[in-house]
Amino acid sequence: MGVSGRFVIAIDGPAGSGKSSVARGVAEELGAADLNTGSLYRAVALVAISRGLDLGSGEELSGAAAGLELDERGVLAGGERVSEQDLRTPEVSAAASRVSVHPEVREALVAVQRSAAEGAAQVGGAVVEGRDIGTVILPEAELKVFLLAAPGERARRRALQTGREDEVDRIQEAIEVRDRQDSEREVSPLRPAPDAVVLDTTGLGLEEVVDRIVVLARERVSGAGETGG
Ligand code: C5P
Repeated sequence: MGVSGRFVIAIDGPAGSGKSSVARGVAEELGAADLNTGSLYRAVALVAISRGLDLGSGEELSGAAAGLELDERGVLAGGERVSEQDLRTPEVSAAASRVSVHPEVREALVAVQRSAAEGAAQVGGAVVEGRDIGTVILPEAELKVFLLAAPGERARRRALQTGREDEVDRIQEAIEVRDRQDSEREVSPLRPAPDAVVLDTTGLGLEEVVDRIVVLARERVSGAGETGG
């Protein structure tokens, strides 16, 4: 798809690679909207759990994807704001990874993600983060970044973020399970787009990563951030 209007930056990478903080920082710097597509898979998982749907059935789950919308503040289900807190429990994280393997679910969410990106791109630019943004959802994004970090570092970051510092080992195990599921699934596996800039953030601070991406964005996209802040 060609996203018209202003620019789109795709940021992909595994759990705990810093995508969310990086995307937020880049969006702020460029005056763009930050769209977190993982929230959509989390919302499908949350709806599925609340309705007692079979997490193994793509067909059942695609119903849970109907009526979802994405904006900078998160997800709406049937027009109602879904609580961020409910989307971020360990149970929902694990279920999100399971529901995301189903082609029916992924297909149902393609249009939702593209229309959110298109809308935001028209206004002030969009920074869209996820797993398959550069490869599948927005392959024509002006800049694609794939973030990497060592699993131990990712687990430490997640533990700090969620106030579970005493559970680093357990978090690392869960991250490795999700990595395997995300990179081995048949549909839209987690991998960098051929023209993505791969950035290993192990040992780098958040600001450093944000700065590097902002520099790349300004090089690639004329007008990126010139009026946004
Ligand atoms: O990014 P976040 O951890 O919130 O994503 C939750 C889950 O949603 C991931 O583990 C992944 O399985 C799935 N996901 C995906 N494609 C995306 C974003 C997230 O499959 N674009």
